[in-house]
Amino acid sequence: MHLIITQTRLQLQTIWGGLKMKIMNRTTKQRTAIQGALLEAARPLLPQEILVSAQRQVPNLNLATVYRNLNLLTDEKAITPVHLPGQPTRFELAGHHHHHFQCRQCDRVFDVHACTAEISKLAPKGFEVIDHDVILYGRCPDCSSRSS
Ligand SMILES: [Zn+2]
Ligand SMILES: [Zn+2]
Ligand SMILES: [Zn+2]
Repeated sequence: MHLIITQTRLQLQTIWGGLKMKIMNRTTKQRTAIQGALLEAARPLLPQEILVSAQRQVPNLNLATVYRNLNLLTDEKAITPVHLPGQPTRFELAGHHHHHFQCRQCDRVFDVHACTAEISKLAPKGFEVIDHDVILYGRCPDCSSRSS
């Protein structure tokens, strides 16, 4: 009797273990696909853009799952939300200090990896600059070449 109970428990543990692995694998796959989409784009993406790109790895992915993963990854500081005035939130892989360029034609946002200490000198006398944010607006190379 005791043996049977032990066996059943073992079987249950195995089934549960397998189930947990399956859930883990699915979660890992989703996260990897989302982070892969951001890595490949190398620019901040809208959740909808992340979905389209990540679906190449995980075809049954949906927008709700993308949002849930984006929130988790943001909490873990693996990714950073990018807030541009009047724009829906985009996301990018967490990285060092940089700025953004938004194309007025296609609305895409690109990274700008240049900065200058001169920016702090723009503040009026007596004002201490603690942080800054710079957004450049214009036309991206794709849009420039298309319209010329
Ligand atoms: Zn453009
Ligand atoms: Zn960026
Ligand atoms: Zn800067």
